[in-house]
Amino acid sequence: MDLQTRALHEGYTKDSQGTMAVPIYMTTAYEFRDAEHAANLFALKELGNIYTRLNNPTTDVFEKRFASLEGGEAALATSSGMSAIFYAIANAAEAGDNIICARQLYGGSLTLTAHTLKRFGIEARFFDVHNPKSIEALIDDKTKVIFFESLTNPSIDVADIEAITTIANKHGILTVVDNTVATPVLCRPLEHGADVTVHSASKYTTGQGLAIGGILVERKGLLEKLRGNARYAHFNEPDHSYHGLVYVDVPLPPFTLRARLSLLRDLGAASSPFNSWLFIQGMETLSLRIKEHSANALALAQFLESHPKVKKVNYPGLKSNVNYANAQKYFENGACSGLLSFEVENLDAAIKIVNATKLYSLVVNIGDSKSIITHPASTTHQQLTESELIACGVPSGLIRISCGLESAKDLIADMKQALEA
Ligand SMILES: *Cc1c(COP(=O)(O)O)cnc(C)c1O
Repeated sequence: MDLQTRALHEGYTKDSQGTMAVPIYMTTAYEFRDAEHAANLFALKELGNIYTRLNNPTTDVFEKRFASLEGGEAALATSSGMSAIFYAIANAAEAGDNIICARQLYGGSLTLTAHTLKRFGIEARFFDVHNPKSIEALIDDKTKVIFFESLTNPSIDVADIEAITTIANKHGILTVVDNTVATPVLCRPLEHGADVTVHSASKYTTGQGLAIGGILVERKGLLEKLRGNARYAHFNEPDHSYHGLVYVDVPLPPFTLRARLSLLRDLGAASSPFNSWLFIQGMETLSLRIKEHSANALALAQFLESHPKVKKVNYPGLKSNVNYANAQKYFENGACSGLLSFEVENLDAAIKIVNATKLYSLVVNIGDSKSIITHPASTTHQQLTESELIACGVPSGLIRISCGLESAKDLIADMKQALEA
């Protein structure tokens, strides 16, 4: 079945009441039939609900449905996008290991990999997403993950997914792709050789800026890559924290299984059933919304490109953009989501525009149905000097837009008056 159909039906079987909407199972725990049932659940002899930190029927629908859209085998929902990213890395690497990351990353992912993971003894080595060939020189026998974004936020680049996964597969290394901005509607990295995808559900999945959440998806057949792979001994040897369970010996998707039984159990960043329910509502309209976000962003990008006060427009859907070829190759119908940025003369000009818009809210978020304007140099990147700003692709005159679902005509008219105010 098509993605749009699965987005409405996958993973949910109606209960005895015939409930059309997926019920919110707001509960902490679940009653066992008897002592044997309880013992079987803990021993994985039978699968079932134990405690909502580990599993929940509403979250289960969200996980099954999202895994299906992404073309994966199984998923694990978490309380935020950042916890999904941390779990994906911590499930593969430990102290003494290293990970290889694209330089073009979400701000939180940059601080996580460069600073926080360092304190856990995991070293991050960085490569330019436009130069996948440079990855090979960074690999050694302690490399456990190659991590990058399919459509990067905030630099708005498109990764050559196959070039990166081919190098990773040659060395038996896991690839983790943050697919938040592209969403499974536009891009499915698992179909291009990636092993795991991670998402912030707080963006396009919820779609209306309603809730924080994350999800991690594992590809079909990942077991074969992990089985006997010396890099991932912890999947092949008994887990003494789980009565000697060997993950590759269980007929269940091993990456999400270990992330659930070990990381979610011990670190506890579980999704609230209510938030899982909100994400299910968002998924029902995701493919419609992404088409509209993308069409609006392309129209605005084309308008901006024609305006004399705009120095440069970054949108992979424009033929003039360096990422155009990758976007055509990896994104459904070449659509590129609602994220774009543009550069005006200097800091003062940018601040004037940000203050003059009426329809765009000054917010540090993306993927809302309402349009958002952000000025990185005065907010998220304010600690950087002018030369540092230029080095990381965020000059002081750069403005980022997350195009919402207002009419393109109104979005362009408001931007025009702001540019000319
Ligand atoms: C927002 C975002 C995150 C972090 O997600 P949270 O849900 O805010 O924790 C990670 N990656 C990308 C690309 C994002 O845009």
